[in-house]
Amino acid sequence: MLKSEYLQRVYTQVIARDPDQREFHQAVLEVLESLDLIVEKHPEYEKHGIIEAFVEPERVISFRVPWVDDQGRVRVNRGYRIQFSSAIGPYKGGLRFHPTVNLSILKFLGFEQILKNSLTGLPMGGAKGGADFDPKGKSDNEVMRFCQSFMTELNRHIGQFVDVPAGDIGVGAREIGYLFGQYRRIRGSYDAGVLTGKGLAFGGSLARTEATGYGLCYLTEEMLKCMKNDSFAGKTVVISGSGNVAIFAAEKATALGAKVVALSDSNGYIHDPDGIKLDVVKDIKLKRRARIKVYADEVPGSTYADGFRGIWNVPCDIALPCATQNEIDEETAKIIVKNGAMAVAEGANMPCRPEAIRVFQEAGLLFAPAKAANAGGVATSGLEMSQNSMRYSWTFEEVDHRLQEIMVNIFHNTYDASVECDAPGDLVVGANIAGFLKVAGVMLAQGLI
Ligand code: GLU
Repeated sequence: MLKSEYLQRVYTQVIARDPDQREFHQAVLEVLESLDLIVEKHPEYEKHGIIEAFVEPERVISFRVPWVDDQGRVRVNRGYRIQFSSAIGPYKGGLRFHPTVNLSILKFLGFEQILKNSLTGLPMGGAKGGADFDPKGKSDNEVMRFCQSFMTELNRHIGQFVDVPAGDIGVGAREIGYLFGQYRRIRGSYDAGVLTGKGLAFGGSLARTEATGYGLCYLTEEMLKCMKNDSFAGKTVVISGSGNVAIFAAEKATALGAKVVALSDSNGYIHDPDGIKLDVVKDIKLKRRARIKVYADEVPGSTYADGFRGIWNVPCDIALPCATQNEIDEETAKIIVKNGAMAVAEGANMPCRPEAIRVFQEAGLLFAPAKAANAGGVATSGLEMSQNSMRYSWTFEEVDHRLQEIMVNIFHNTYDASVECDAPGDLVVGANIAGFLKVAGVMLAQGLI
């Protein structure tokens, strides 16, 4: 129950409007619980209907995506784009291709994206999109035909000043390439800034691929330094997932002196007590597009076990969940605490259930929520947009340096906001409030209501 009668009314209406959108309710409730600490000081929010507007997407687009498989059969998927908020900049956020994609998941992701993008300090609104298409087991040609059909519909809704999609689960460099090719064909114009995460030869930014994972480690390192006078050096790290975020988080954590001992995919996890060999993982996951199980067949001394949740039985000092939403429940969180972890930072979006976060915080672990911790990906997308506008490319070092600066700033803004609203060190509250104050201020300034 929320203390503020206004916030409770807004939340009740969110549920009444879309009773089955559980992930969306979860994301909204977490933010409203944080706003509960400040809303009394801001009567203008209620007067101007700011929070009602904030939880309602500006636009929800749903469309049919027909495509032809390699057997010549027509298949039909459902595509979406949630243009949630354009208060502080063009809509910005990734596309997810996964069989679980539905309106609830995309609305939660789009909603989170508003605050995450606000925290980066760059002028980007919030959006998310995707389709219930499963790229797993599809041929390159099938993925290409799917992407072309998806963009045939999506192209009319996006643009460098309108809405700039990028990747997310199931959408990487290959998919962005096919999507951009189709956009360019349909529009007859080379608008590089319409998508981010592009290949380097057609307007992509150096360090974008690494950015989410690296950024997660930069923020975590700053959090360890400022809140515990500690660092990654000498720590044991467990990272769930084995996609882009997990792989580059493992790379940076290792570079900062930690030992990463486990990674997972949706089938199971690998444990390598000597430290995961990342060149092998990159070859398996990024080149061969195979399952993580193969690692245990190829690296002596490592083991594989079925079931992705089992990874959290592996003891660690620092846990970086980088797979997908709601992976860590209360019971799993208790195991992580019991095994002696000191910090958890979310690389995936909303990987920890609210009860799990409570367990971490009550046990005194450092906890960095996704909208702060994984903002490095979209921040570097913002840097890609800047480079596209300048028709210029920065070096890897230059982009990486800006990314580090952004992540350090996000940590401090988040921490400071937590102190200002009497919840010192609660970075969930800090991230929600720091992200929200900026968006709400702009909504008031622009007189949207
Ligand atoms: N999908 C990423 C995220 O969750 C990146 C989005 C982007 O680069 O626009 O933030």
